[in-house]
Amino acid sequence: MDSNLSITGPAASTLSFWEKLGLGLAAIATLYLFSFMWVGSIISNFGDISLLILLYAMATASYIYGAYIGKSAGIKNDQNYFRSLTSRGALAWALGIFLTGFYVLLYWYPSTLGLVKNGPNTGIIAVFDPLSRFLKGQPASQWFMYGTLYTVAILFMGVKFMYKYRHNSYHLIRTTSVMFFQLAFAFLIPEILQRLNQPYFDFKMIWPLDYYAFFDWRIEELTSSGQLGIFMLVWSVALILIVTPILTYFFGKRWYCSWVCGCGGLAETAGDPFRHLSDKSLRAWQIERWMIHAVLFIVTAMTIAVLHSYLYDSSDPIFNTTSLSILFSVILGGIVAWIYIDKERFKSLDPIAKKVGLVLCSVLILLMWEAQFTGRYNLLFFPAHQIRSWYGFLIGATFSGVIGVGFYPLMGNRVWCRFGCPMAAILGIQQKFFSKFRITTNGNQCISCGNCSTYCEMGIDVKWYAQRGQDIVRASCVGCGICSAVCPRGVLRLENGPDTSQKATEIRSLQIEPSGVKLDV
Ligand code: SF4
Ligand code: SF4
Repeated sequence: MDSNLSITGPAASTLSFWEKLGLGLAAIATLYLFSFMWVGSIISNFGDISLLILLYAMATASYIYGAYIGKSAGIKNDQNYFRSLTSRGALAWALGIFLTGFYVLLYWYPSTLGLVKNGPNTGIIAVFDPLSRFLKGQPASQWFMYGTLYTVAILFMGVKFMYKYRHNSYHLIRTTSVMFFQLAFAFLIPEILQRLNQPYFDFKMIWPLDYYAFFDWRIEELTSSGQLGIFMLVWSVALILIVTPILTYFFGKRWYCSWVCGCGGLAETAGDPFRHLSDKSLRAWQIERWMIHAVLFIVTAMTIAVLHSYLYDSSDPIFNTTSLSILFSVILGGIVAWIYIDKERFKSLDPIAKKVGLVLCSVLILLMWEAQFTGRYNLLFFPAHQIRSWYGFLIGATFSGVIGVGFYPLMGNRVWCRFGCPMAAILGIQQKFFSKFRITTNGNQCISCGNCSTYCEMGIDVKWYAQRGQDIVRASCVGCGICSAVCPRGVLRLENGPDTSQKATEIRSLQIEPSGVKLDV
């Protein structure tokens, strides 16, 4: 007999034996890995890394068995706000500190993890040497170790995610997609390319997320690598100028953020238990918009500065600073002019943001031409290599790595995607102003339970739109589809296509449009 007299329902039940076993095995595997920090010099064979991966596989299998097997399909987000790990409790802080500390060592003190330049690795990194030698014929670097762990995390947590959402084909397909792109494009192909003495290249990384895509050393490396290198350079340009606009027009930013990108892949799989921690406040939305567009401007200015200094001495009739200044003046000036001319399309753009964008782009164009006419080397007053090392430290390492993943248990799983990723900023602008993608809502059916807002990892108050029967066209929406999956009333649909907007309009009774509010009874 239940002796609980509380009117708030029974107390949260504890984890099952198998779930505890899974978490315990994951902790043992991690301890086993970090024990190599104190072992010092080792000659590792495949046994160490195989045991590590086996322990993580057993941990995942045990957790899945306890949490999902033998239970009815359907999303189980039970007790998220009662568990220490998923409600910013002591365990969440411990995990956050551990992950942050790991990133600090990885970026700035790799020797403590066992990296030895010009000699055999020791410690943790030596554990990854056999796999690295097998794939690329060289000892492991800290980035190979990180890439392996990152891929293992996406694959194993991806399987767990698929069990959790096994009744939903959208999530099964998109999770298979991110697992494939991480394993093949981000991990195996770049390593095998190195074995073939070709440049390390991730074919799905796009500037400006791949912020060094047009750095001088990168261009030199690709142009000196024969036809394949030239193809890679052309591919990098085509990805940002052709592939991205076309796919985003048809599918919104989800084609990249939720189906392809490695950062999104980790957020969606390993980060899934923390998605409800995203800040839904209006203040967070305001900070998000300013921060992400500031990072986009900085990476654009930095790339122009780097290219400018690279072409400074060029006597090539086409690839020189004059043509660079003309090209970027046309691109930046054209974008600003479009925003001011096409008032209808950009009517929802914040007027202050519009003015700030105009001033910043004008200043950048003026600086380019001033440097052009005076022959000044430093486009942005500092040497380009200094600017890019600041960017690499502040954005590339600290923000995207240390904060972006280390703070999963405290700020949610999409902190980097939401506040810092310049690629998400570009895709978001396209999604908001030039895309067929939207989430349609059948406001009649909404019971205001708030599940959608709670589990939106990008902090979008989905319920606010659902209650009004308004389509959701938000720049930050990554199209993960979780809002739709957790809605008990089937209110939300992710749609793209020429007729979807009209279809959604027909099934709504309350329509809020610029011309006024219409009630169709
Ligand atoms: S609005 Fe829905 S689809 Fe978009 S990010 Fe939020 S939960 Fe994902
Ligand atoms: S989850 Fe569905 S029913 Fe609940 S508030 Fe959101 S749209 Fe409405």
